[in-house]
Amino acid sequence: MASVASASAARAEEMAKVEGIELTPQGPIQVPSRLLMGPGPTSAHPRILAAQALPLLGHMHPPFIKIMDEIKAGLQYLFQTSSPYTLMISGTGHAGMEAAIANLLEPGEKVVVGVNGIWGERVADLADRYQAEVIQLKKAAGGTFSIEELKAAVAEHKPAMLFLVQGESSTGTHQALGDGLGAACKAAGTLLVVDTVASLGGVPVFADAWGVDAIYSGSQKCLSGPPGASPFMLSQRAVDKLRSRRTKPATYNLDLNLIADYWGWFTPGARKYHHTGMVSTMYAMREALAIVGEEGLPAMWDRHLAAHQLLWAGLTELGLEPFVPDAKDRLVTVNTIKVPAGVDWAAVCTDAMATYSVEIAGGLGPSVGKVWRIGIMGANAKPVAVESVLTAFRGALKKQGWAGAGKAAGKTEL
Ligand SMILES: *Cc1c(COP(=O)(O)O)cnc(C)c1O
Repeated sequence: MASVASASAARAEEMAKVEGIELTPQGPIQVPSRLLMGPGPTSAHPRILAAQALPLLGHMHPPFIKIMDEIKAGLQYLFQTSSPYTLMISGTGHAGMEAAIANLLEPGEKVVVGVNGIWGERVADLADRYQAEVIQLKKAAGGTFSIEELKAAVAEHKPAMLFLVQGESSTGTHQALGDGLGAACKAAGTLLVVDTVASLGGVPVFADAWGVDAIYSGSQKCLSGPPGASPFMLSQRAVDKLRSRRTKPATYNLDLNLIADYWGWFTPGARKYHHTGMVSTMYAMREALAIVGEEGLPAMWDRHLAAHQLLWAGLTELGLEPFVPDAKDRLVTVNTIKVPAGVDWAAVCTDAMATYSVEIAGGLGPSVGKVWRIGIMGANAKPVAVESVLTAFRGALKKQGWAGAGKAAGKTEL
């Protein structure tokens, strides 16, 4: 048995080791102020940030359960659904994506994935990891799927799931979802699953009217919250599928049968611990949803559309063109702008940030090097933010010698 003396010697040695490592970080955190005009995160609403700073509650305490119930109700409004199966997934948009795939597909089942950008590609990869049979329906970047071709794919393959991205933020396209697509999916025994991370709150979403069976989104885009929460919903049909699975979902963290018991989907009174609810993040989501309700969805959609139109009026004046050829396919919330020949796109982004503290993003996946991306989302879908991003563009392009398409083909010396 070690003596008291040798134990304290060992302790002294441990203390010396700790002291040998420099303490870092030091001092209060410093964060620069920036106008976030890329595809997300967008600048957060101050009221949401303030909500996040409130004192913690226990994740099973009744006042906190009440906040969770408010979130469920707020999400019904946001998704335009009467389905009681709404909740917030702990995690970013990707966690919502994985929850939909992992819970609604069993190994060997077919999923038709609309691939017209990076998000469809990711879902195809994800579904493959969960051992689904993936059928990719492909479209060139900048295009969308017609309802007819989607219905034809459903009729041909009779998949367990059809997956689509409403707002393809890597290319700037808006996928149409109405016109009987939901009914066609229902008739074929197919669940219709939609990614609305970049679009929910910025453009109309009608989960019930469109017959959508699962939707996920993200807190940091049109809802102006911090990243980390994924609004989520299932239809009754999707819940029936979840409850009658032959196999357990291969993920424990995102098993909706377990998470449902924390959110009271099936047993409203009795909540069961699955993981510690993200207390502060839920305060933020609750506040984001209250703000949505106060403004009202129609007003919110109008505000996004008006800001998008103002942006394009300014970009057109600068001689810039949209990447998405067909006007009806252009997404309001994430705008893709063709990089003109001879212009260094990255230098424009760097200058916008260095000179104006404005974020202009480059492309992603199939659009890298071809476009800039401007987000018109949430609190930044307003004239003052649009004018700031246009000022940054004008200044940065001028330094590049770009004088507008009308004045010279490409680069001119100033
Ligand atoms: C941003 C985005 C995601 C991913 O969301 P994260 O919060 O980064 O995980 C998924 N889909 C679309 C369409 C997006 O724009």
